[in-house]
Amino acid sequence: MSDSVSVATDTTNFIRDAITADIASGKTQKVITRFPPEPNGYLHIGHAKSICLNFGVARDFNGYCNLRFDDTNPEKENVEYVNAIRKDVEWLGFDWHSNPFASDYFDQLYAYALQLIDQGDAYVDSQSADQIRENRGTLTEPGIASPYRDRPVEESRRLFEEMKAGKYGDGEHVLRVKIDLNSGNINLRDPVIYRIRHVVHHNTGDKWCIYPLYDFTHGLSDAIEGVTHSLCTLEFEDHRPLYDWILEKVNPPFHPRQIEFSRLQLEYSLTSKRKLNQLVEGRHVDGWDDPRMLTLSGMRRRGYTPESIVTFCNMIGITKKDATIEMGVLENALRDDLNTRAERRMAVIRPLKVVIENYPDGQEEWVTGKNHPQNPDYGTREIPFSKEIYIERDDFMEDAPKKFFRLSPGREVRLRFAYYITCKEVIKDAEGNIESLVCTYDPESRGGNTADGRKVKGTIHWVSASHAVQATVNLYDRLFTVTNPGAAKDFVSVLNPESNIVTDDAMLEPAIELSGNSIAYQFERLGYFISDTGSTREHPVFNRTLSLRDTWAKIDRSD
Ligand code: ATP
Ligand code: MG
Repeated sequence: MSDSVSVATDTTNFIRDAITADIASGKTQKVITRFPPEPNGYLHIGHAKSICLNFGVARDFNGYCNLRFDDTNPEKENVEYVNAIRKDVEWLGFDWHSNPFASDYFDQLYAYALQLIDQGDAYVDSQSADQIRENRGTLTEPGIASPYRDRPVEESRRLFEEMKAGKYGDGEHVLRVKIDLNSGNINLRDPVIYRIRHVVHHNTGDKWCIYPLYDFTHGLSDAIEGVTHSLCTLEFEDHRPLYDWILEKVNPPFHPRQIEFSRLQLEYSLTSKRKLNQLVEGRHVDGWDDPRMLTLSGMRRRGYTPESIVTFCNMIGITKKDATIEMGVLENALRDDLNTRAERRMAVIRPLKVVIENYPDGQEEWVTGKNHPQNPDYGTREIPFSKEIYIERDDFMEDAPKKFFRLSPGREVRLRFAYYITCKEVIKDAEGNIESLVCTYDPESRGGNTADGRKVKGTIHWVSASHAVQATVNLYDRLFTVTNPGAAKDFVSVLNPESNIVTDDAMLEPAIELSGNSIAYQFERLGYFISDTGSTREHPVFNRTLSLRDTWAKIDRSD
């Protein structure tokens, strides 16, 4: 992360307090955490919260954090996701200590499973998946013991070894731990810890046809890595007794501590890989990195900075209470960051041609524009000016109210960094649509001052027509029309049909980098923009990252 940017640190929360206490009591020497994504999709803003917490805690307590892929569902996982996740974590600015796969531990986990069988703590069950489900009981009824529950240890061991050797088909047997069928916590009613799946795994290939389940794998992987604090979201709170039970029974040299915190939920967005996957598969969006999705890759393509995401995660803090965060909180973190960071340029999104009739034909001149209003380090650039320019259609009104301080017939405005112009004539087509304007300019007003000191209230942006670069611009809006699309019966039905308005005739001043995703700009008065990943000089495409706080418009419309 660039050290010129100060990123607020979330210094106090109940997890940091718990770690501080563990260090004080001597229970923890070196703090070790992990961020454990399953490589079954791309990371989203919710994962950023977990990344900032896990890596942030490790850094601040002088420990380290691993990036561990929790890859126990071979059907859903692949190398594309592995690579995308690594890229996103690096982009956020975090370095992992090591980057193992849970599948690297399959041999060790298999040995642990045999140990549990030998101890009488696990048994091979030969019921079908449906029978196991039916016999699990409900919140009010206890579970029913499998007829195989008291199968002799030697028989379970032989069957489990044969399962591994590929002797049985998918679903013929499973391995379950023997805990308590009467437990009020259904997770403790003899959960399955291994199942047969004759599928190829992205990391282990066809070495295995039995795969351990998440609950068995997770805590033991934490233990193998010496993770001191296993930080996870609240849905795992009910799994903690199982997490602890497995550690107690297997008794590896090291016992980690699980602590849960609330998931991030953001208005107008989905933070579930499964649901995001449906949007991608159903082609409702342009891939995982669609700039309207709050995947980290989508946010990068949209123009989010990693610093703004880290700041946001630190701002919202870590609690045990579920809450939905307003989009404005994220957008403000981004706006504040881009405001200090983005170079200013002029661009016209909906162009209206203006011909300056008293400006000499064929003449051009260059005016100087500041690249940043507050930061002189950003320097200046030369902007071409000529007889024909484009202004924003919205900056002209034929029958304007008194307080419309932009252009209208007979009124004068300041062109940013250039001259005052006065509108003399409105040219229309046969249907009465405005085609262009004829204006005059005051040659004395260059740079925004005149000898008579007359006041001109409005300043508008512009681009010289003959020098302009024509570009496509994606004007993004919320992807969903409702604040909580995840709660909708069918979230596809609440997609916002206007979430991307595309315009093809935007006009940019020439001093703009056009190649994909390079530099964040503020197009003056319009918002923040970045060139899209596929943008080229031949076909420039820009994404609107975010609009500005609309202060100018407020003044103009105050009557
Ligand atoms: P999804 O349901 O979207 O697939 P997940 O939680 O299953 O998400 P994992 O890859 O299992 O995704 O998550 C990796 C880590 O990120 C876990 O520790 C998980 O608790 C955490 N995480 C996932 N979503 C959020 C969220 N919205 N807020 C905070 N942490 C999250
Ligand atoms: Mg998960």
